[in-house]
Amino acid sequence: MKDFILKRSNSYNFYKNNYESLKQENILLKEELEKYKRVYPPKECPICGYKGIDFKPYVSVIHREVECPQCRSHERHRALWLYFHERKDLLKKGNTFLHFAPEIQFNELFRSSGMEYHPVDLNPQNSLSEEVVDIQDIPYDDNYFDLIYCSNILEHVPDDKKAMDELYRVLKPNGTALILVPINGITYERPYDKSKTFEDDQYNTPELREKYYGQFDHLRLYGTDFKDKLIDAGFKVLADDYIENLGHEIIDKYALIKDENIFECTKGE
Ligand SMILES: [Zn+2]
Repeated sequence: MKDFILKRSNSYNFYKNNYESLKQENILLKEELEKYKRVYPPKECPICGYKGIDFKPYVSVIHREVECPQCRSHERHRALWLYFHERKDLLKKGNTFLHFAPEIQFNELFRSSGMEYHPVDLNPQNSLSEEVVDIQDIPYDDNYFDLIYCSNILEHVPDDKKAMDELYRVLKPNGTALILVPINGITYERPYDKSKTFEDDQYNTPELREKYYGQFDHLRLYGTDFKDKLIDAGFKVLADDYIENLGHEIIDKYALIKDENIFECTKGE
C-alpha cells in the first residue's frame, strides 16, 4: 500500500512538474495523427460495414490490404458489391443467372433476387454451390443465361480458351457476363511484360506456380491482353474501367485494386 501511494504521488508530481511539456507533446501527437489520417484514411468495407486502420494481408500475396477482418471479403468482392448495388437492373427477377464458385459475401444478395439462380463449382466441397460444373464444358444449352458472374476462375482453368468459348455459348444474346481475373503486376513482385499473359508449361509444380504466377494453384498470369482474349471468344467488352472510374478516394477507402477490373461482356444478336 505504501508503495502504491508512493508511486501515485511520484506520477502525480511527474505530471504536475511536466504539465506544459506534456501538453505540448500531446498537441504534436494529435497533429501527427491528423496528418497520418490524411495520408492513410481509415478503411471501410462496403459489405459488412467494417471500419478500421487497415485490411489484412492474404497468404502469399504481396499486396497488403486484402482481406476484411470481419467478413473476409477481398478487393474484388468489395468492388463487385459496389457494382451490383449500382446495377440492380442486372439482378432481374425471373432471369437466369450462372454464378461460378459462389462466395458467401453475395449469397443473400443473389438468393433474394428472385432470379433463376445457378450457383456452381468444380469443387463439390463448396457448400454454397448446388451443382458441380466444369467451366470448360458447361452442361447448359446455348443462349441460356441472362447473367453470368465468373470471378477469379479462369486463372485456375487448364484450357481457358475453351472456358471463354463456353461462357460465350451459354450467354443469351444481349445478356451480360461479368468476368474478372487477377491482372498481373498488382500483387506480384517479379518484373515482366504486363501487356502479355505469361504462361509456360514448365511451371507445373505448386512451388514454380507460386514463384512465377503468384499463387500455387494459378496456371498463368494474365496481362492486359486479357480483354483481347474475351473479344477473340466472341464477346463485346462493354466496359472494363468500372473500378478505375470510381476514383482514388473510393479505391483507397475500400482498398480496391484499380487494374483488377470488371469486364462487362455481352453477346450480339
Ligand atoms: Zn467486410
